[in-house]
Amino acid sequence: MMLAVIGAGASGLCAAIEYKIHRPDGRVCVLERGARAGRKLAATGNGRCNLSSADLSLKHYHGQHPDFAVPALMRYNFNDTRAFFERIGIPLRREGDKYFPYSFQASAVVDALRLECARLGIDIIPQTPVSSIQKQDGVFLLTAPEKTLRAHAVVVACGGAANAPLGGTGDGYTLLSAFGHGVTPLFPSIVQLKTNPEHTRALAGVKQDALTALYIGGKKIRQERAEVLFTDYGLSGPAILQLSGLAVRALAQKKQPVIQVDLLPDLPLPALLAQLHTRTVQLGHASLEHYLIGLVQNRVGLIALKAARLKPLSRSAASLEETEIETLAAQLKSWSFHVQDSNGMKNAQVTAGGVETAGFDADTMQSRLCPGLFACGEVLDIDGDCGGYNLQWAWSSGRLAGASAAALGV
Ligand SMILES: Cc1cc2nc3c(=O)[nH]c(=O)nc-3n(C[C@H](O)[C@H](O)[C@H](O)COP(=O)(O)OP(=O)(O)OC[C@H]3O[C@@H](n4cnc5c(N)ncnc54)[C@H](O)[C@@H]3O)c2cc1C
Repeated sequence: MMLAVIGAGASGLCAAIEYKIHRPDGRVCVLERGARAGRKLAATGNGRCNLSSADLSLKHYHGQHPDFAVPALMRYNFNDTRAFFERIGIPLRREGDKYFPYSFQASAVVDALRLECARLGIDIIPQTPVSSIQKQDGVFLLTAPEKTLRAHAVVVACGGAANAPLGGTGDGYTLLSAFGHGVTPLFPSIVQLKTNPEHTRALAGVKQDALTALYIGGKKIRQERAEVLFTDYGLSGPAILQLSGLAVRALAQKKQPVIQVDLLPDLPLPALLAQLHTRTVQLGHASLEHYLIGLVQNRVGLIALKAARLKPLSRSAASLEETEIETLAAQLKSWSFHVQDSNGMKNAQVTAGGVETAGFDADTMQSRLCPGLFACGEVLDIDGDCGGYNLQWAWSSGRLAGASAAALGV
């Protein structure tokens, strides 16, 4: 028995390991397009690898049929994932709901997976981009430059199309389409958003704790309390990355997504209005330029005053009229940014959309169209929120594919 895994990323390495654990006598070969295994994995979580979450409920997963992910996530759940990593020398540590390797080093996760592959006798063959898979007389033929490989079963673990610089090729869509599998529309997700940059450019580099809400068609869809980063093209930071998938999908449907930022989430509007009124008395002598100092970051205050069209800044605070105070409060509590685009697939962390899950058996990850063919990870139409959900999907689906391939017994 020979299993070929295409892609030495998070899901492919797990598929290979799980196969070997279940079938120590079987052969596994992992074909990797890049120069080394786990390149994207080594860059995850800003180099810290947020590899799972304390809350793996289905609401954090998306796609046309997110419930496809349930059997894999239940069989290889968080406790099982923790045990898997501890066994290969990676204890976990928790920060909020997020889990990381204890050393906070993504490269350690790659090293541990590579060492485990070596221990189990798994061949990882770098610089081998697979360009086609064919099945002839029950055997798969895989074509790569100057190489043809024969295998009894194949796991397609090529990842998605996101972040080409880190190995997102989209090759998996082509390889699986050749067997009749459909591919849903693809969108970048967990990605920065482009907005009208008039004010964000002036604030480029400023990070601000905020309550950030996404509105589509005037309806609040979701909100996040986390840092927002202003940039010269628009908005970034954890809150924006989390909301980006829904915003990008709305754009594709020609709906206008709006991001609303509350810069003072711990100060309800009436309390803020009271503060501003007090300031007009206490700091009445000061110019508007200094009116918000101490309440918000200086640059944020200045640009908020401009965005609220309160001019000139040399005016005294005492000259503010009631309606102007209300406008300024609204600016600080619900600053609106119209989303024009995302920063694209190249800068995205994840692909939303992918190979249609209806073509696969959720209990085994095996193709319903071609026995012996499996898929796992991001290549499938399952994407998770920011927070360890995508790697957990890669570990769970990869291990399920590997174990199922081992169970084929061919
Ligand atoms: C910058 C960044 C940070 C991220 N941080 C996190 C995080 O902290 N937590 C989290 O949960 N998720 C994170 N993600 C998402 C997560 O990394 C992916 O969802 C996950 O790696 C997907 O696993 P995969 O095995 O499906 O694909 P990948 O890990 O992308 O692996 C696919 C592999 O297949 C190879 N390949 C592609 N085509 C071919 C071919 N034709 N032949 C041979 N090999 C091929 C690629 O080179 C690659 O090595 C992050 C993503 C990025 C880009």
